[in-house]
Amino acid sequence: MSPTTPVSALTIAGSDSGGGAGIQADLKAFAAHRVHGLSVIAALTAQNTRGVRAVHVPPIDFLRAQIEACFDDFDIHAVKLGMLANAEVIHAVADALERHRPPHVVLDPVMVATSGARLLEDSALQAMRQRLLPLATLATPNAPEAELLVGRSIANGNDAERAAASLLDLGAGAVLLKGGHLHEGNRVVDRYFDGVSSEEFIHARLPLDAHGTGCTLASAIAAQLCNGLSLANACEAGIDYVARGLQQGYAPGRSEVLVLDHF
Ligand code: PLP
Repeated sequence: MSPTTPVSALTIAGSDSGGGAGIQADLKAFAAHRVHGLSVIAALTAQNTRGVRAVHVPPIDFLRAQIEACFDDFDIHAVKLGMLANAEVIHAVADALERHRPPHVVLDPVMVATSGARLLEDSALQAMRQRLLPLATLATPNAPEAELLVGRSIANGNDAERAAASLLDLGAGAVLLKGGHLHEGNRVVDRYFDGVSSEEFIHARLPLDAHGTGCTLASAIAAQLCNGLSLANACEAGIDYVARGLQQGYAPGRSEVLVLDHF
């Protein structure tokens, strides 16, 4: 590898035909961090800024072929997991990660799009808990996702801390519990826990309707891990990256929904 060859990160996630979330957001975030982006498409969505119209999950053998093609040729420093659609996909991804053991796995446990569309079947929740949390270096749930994973409601910082402790018990190496869905005044508090230390990352709530923030955050964190940052510093840098992208976000479709600027 020449000194200028960027390291590689892999996203295993869903495609957003509207270009704002999923694989498309991940690859833009990787490129913006000077990381070579690889992509395994676990699901295709027919989607725009107004919502998800249809979902297609490719045959499982084809999913496996994409993953093996990537691991056979590239030195993969970090894997970002996004929309995985169903339990069969989760098991295939977990099998591959157990075999290849990449240094970092950032799990964005995508379940429901902001528009309300279901992106993970209910029956897949247990597979995510049992197979993927133990493989995750870092899990980045929002409050509704964390509630479903731990089976308890989250209304404030104390609840968030208890939920994060349960996610660590389930095997996650660290947790960034995103506070966007919690009501904590005009600020958003994202909370990081790794069992030893905890940090709060606080920023102003922007009065914007945006799409693709969770995907972008997880992939920006994966890219920063590739670039050598610690977990907590990668989380802080990823949160700043999303905040800057949102401030300069633009509405490419006919709805008011913004996508992040990565330029
Ligand atoms: N579509 C795909 C393929 C995704 O992976 C995700 C996100 O995680 C979404 C849509 C949802 O994005 P948002 O909830 O930010 O609209």
